[in-house]
Amino acid sequence: MLWEKLPESKPPELIDSKGFRADGRRLDQLRPIKLEVGILDKADGSAYVEQGKNKIMCAVYGPREAHPKHIALPDRAVIRCRYHMAPFSVDERKSPAPSRREMELSKVIRESLEPVVLADLYPRTTIDLFVEVLQSDGGSRCAGIIGASLALADAGIPMTELVAACAVGKVQGKLALDLSDSEDKYGEADLPVAFVPNANLVTLLQMDGSLTTEEFEKGLGMALEACRTIHGLQREALKKKYHEMKEAVEEKEESEVVA
Ligand code: ADP
Repeated sequence: MLWEKLPESKPPELIDSKGFRADGRRLDQLRPIKLEVGILDKADGSAYVEQGKNKIMCAVYGPREAHPKHIALPDRAVIRCRYHMAPFSVDERKSPAPSRREMELSKVIRESLEPVVLADLYPRTTIDLFVEVLQSDGGSRCAGIIGASLALADAGIPMTELVAACAVGKVQGKLALDLSDSEDKYGEADLPVAFVPNANLVTLLQMDGSLTTEEFEKGLGMALEACRTIHGLQREALKKKYHEMKEAVEEKEESEVVA
């Protein structure tokens, strides 16, 4: 009923008295993640990520001849990235024109992935990375990194490892893993991290808001642990694609023998 609605200015209750979050998660719990690899025919590599309500499509083209030519580098491939939110990805229509935030996120996603790509194998070429956010609910840069990393691997681009990513934040005074949009908006801090577990390498570390040193150290530990879990899911998603391809080839061979 109308009079039961909270006034706009009052933040919603994000953690209940039992320590559960608005979507039913514990403080150290990730949102459900679904990863699919190789779903676009036209791109050289692609991946689709669902993390909670986030829906993100990633595509990779390249390595291909640099265009315009003057951007080419003599000793390695140039990696370009475009993070873009669809106008229908948020509650109020977002302008399709690139915003400052999208430019920043394009840069940080590219920089999170560059350390694992063996770009020096492909001089004078470009590798183009597209991160299209179809539906956004907080943590889209991290979900974008997860998907872009898979799309690069799917394109067959040599990489030392897959990059995983996850944010941790502070909500109503408590550290919470993998913030949703409202937790990000009304929370006190947001700490997105990208991590390569096998190399023990952090490739992205940003922070909004404020945390004490202790909170920062504990929160970083939670994010790194979550990245290890996500890295396992990424490997599974890649393996699944090749397993399905192998099964399809075997089925085709069997049907040819029978014919
Ligand atoms: P991230 O998505 O990596 O957490 P931000 O912290 O900048 O990046 O954004 C948090 C969330 O705010 C986004 O995931 C999205 O749900 C929401 N958001 C971002 N830009 C807009 C916008 N222009 N309109 C409405 N919501 C937005």
